[in-house]
Amino acid sequence: MTAIRANYDAPRLRRLDAAHHIHPFSNATQVVAEGGGKLFAHADGIYIYDTDNKRYLDGMAGLWCVNVGYGREELVEAAARQMRELPYYSSFFGGTTPPTVELAAKLTELLGHGLNHVLFANSGSEANDTVVRLVRHFWNLEGKPKKKAFIARRHAYHGSTMAAASLGNWGTMHEQADLPLPGFHHVEAPYWYAEGGDKDPESFGIACAKAIEAKILELGADNVAAVIGEPVQGAGGVIVPPKSYWPEVERICRKHDVLLIADEVICGFGRTGAWFGFETLGFKPDIVSMAKGLSSGYQPISAVAVTDRIAKPLIDAGYWLHGFTYSGHPVAAAVALKNIEIMEREHLVQKVAKETGPYFAQRLKTLEKNPIVGEVRTLGLLGGIELVADKKTRKRFEPLGHAGTVCRERCLANGLIMRASFETMVLSPPLTITKAQIDELVTLAGRALDETAAELLKK
Ligand code: PMP
Repeated sequence: MTAIRANYDAPRLRRLDAAHHIHPFSNATQVVAEGGGKLFAHADGIYIYDTDNKRYLDGMAGLWCVNVGYGREELVEAAARQMRELPYYSSFFGGTTPPTVELAAKLTELLGHGLNHVLFANSGSEANDTVVRLVRHFWNLEGKPKKKAFIARRHAYHGSTMAAASLGNWGTMHEQADLPLPGFHHVEAPYWYAEGGDKDPESFGIACAKAIEAKILELGADNVAAVIGEPVQGAGGVIVPPKSYWPEVERICRKHDVLLIADEVICGFGRTGAWFGFETLGFKPDIVSMAKGLSSGYQPISAVAVTDRIAKPLIDAGYWLHGFTYSGHPVAAAVALKNIEIMEREHLVQKVAKETGPYFAQRLKTLEKNPIVGEVRTLGLLGGIELVADKKTRKRFEPLGHAGTVCRERCLANGLIMRASFETMVLSPPLTITKAQIDELVTLAGRALDETAAELLKK
């Protein structure tokens, strides 16, 4: 598809942006001081362009979501067709629409493992809020109303609403909203590079799983509702767990009759080289939340899938008072269905597993020769690059966060979008990226890292 190039009055838009738009997860002081935000105008494939027509390789697929890449005319058509036919109808009071039903059925087919029932929402945060409400309702129906506590991990990100942010573990987010809410607990994450100490990765993985068990025992298994985790922690720094971790977490959850929830908002839809991260990492969740890659970001939509065990009491109980005006939105569902069709037709998941994932791993690893890169880790098309002042001791630069910010700016200057998660640079390119484009990404990242090293190591 040829990208549409509208004639924007960029200075006017930036002025209005500074005057009226409060950006999410942004330094508002800086946006206003710089006279408005960074304006992106159009995109095609894996490239995005600003209003000066400067091209950036989007190493983040937007916010980890544009899995099939930009400029997909088929998705535009799917939305337009559905809007003409039925732009909206609700799923409340037993209503439904054809694409909503088709999508629910398709998701259960992709998920397998008895995850046979699906609820819809509009964002990852809403999906995880839905999970919290659903799990509490489930245990009430099971006659175990004391089972209410959630156990999550440090470095977790599960969204920005009150419950989702409580599941997450970002200090400043918690401080700014007096979180976590009561009943949300956090334990060690399997972040071997930063926190593994002298342990080998696999025994560290087991130790981190045991931290979950210790928390269950401390709270009392009768009081614990569920454990939630991203198969690979994304926004926390692409924390790829040791192989030992998830099977042990699953074993512990089963032993104590605690539900296991996979937050697949990032890992779902091919990102790790399987349809879902839980397949790559070897565990079977009771509940799965998904968003982002579900529609490749072309429409806001999210979903929660549950097993028969969880669905049955809910169905038997009749009314459950939960849902959103746009749950199962027909246009979003039609786009998600087409997005999945494209992924299947182009064998994108297999491509990540067999071709681009391994190539990405091999090429990105070469960046470890840079003096400030302590570790490069990947899984599928997720990448994390640890910035350190001292490779041997893994000591960080100070103040914390500065190195990441410098590197992110150097990336932008070089035409690459690579995000900083504190001191870890993170990558999550569209799943359509070719080997030649991976070469280009690594060249640009290498250049940005060299410039970052030159700046941080001078004096
Ligand atoms: N869960 C995970 C793992 C995420 O990465 C995110 C978003 N980055 C969310 C939930 C929240 O999704 P949303 O921003 O769509 O609310």
